[in-house]
Amino acid sequence: MLLPAGLSTTDEEQWVRRMLDRLAAKEQRRHPSDDDLLERATELSARYLDGKAVPISVRWVENQLHRWGSCTPDHGTIRLSARLRGMPAWVVDYVIMHELVHLLVPSHGPRFWALVERYPRAERARGFLEGFSMAANGAPEEC
Ligand SMILES: [Zn+2]
Repeated sequence: MLLPAGLSTTDEEQWVRRMLDRLAAKEQRRHPSDDDLLERATELSARYLDGKAVPISVRWVENQLHRWGSCTPDHGTIRLSARLRGMPAWVVDYVIMHELVHLLVPSHGPRFWALVERYPRAERARGFLEGFSMAANGAPEEC
């Protein structure tokens, strides 16, 4: 790491620690843990669904290759494909939002989409994921 010249040892240590904290925060935004995901899901529900969807757990899964997300409404559990890791936060949030709405409405009917559209970047995120799937598999995927 390149340090600014003329720092005392204490300053230097503090500076290094600050840089490492900043890096860790950045890394966490790009690679949220399961706990981070649950916190985000709870926030999204409060913000866009009047807190009506109550997620109990949200976790990354490695074995979900044909869907971005899935959920078990009876248990309030949501699973996200590990392929979403490293994608922009607003895209991951969209998939969380999609699954949150499934906790309330199982099928992809008009009521479902009306709730999903409360997330302002829903349309853009769908386009992003469709483009990604087309490039990777030559076919779109849903959840
Ligand atoms: Zn769905």
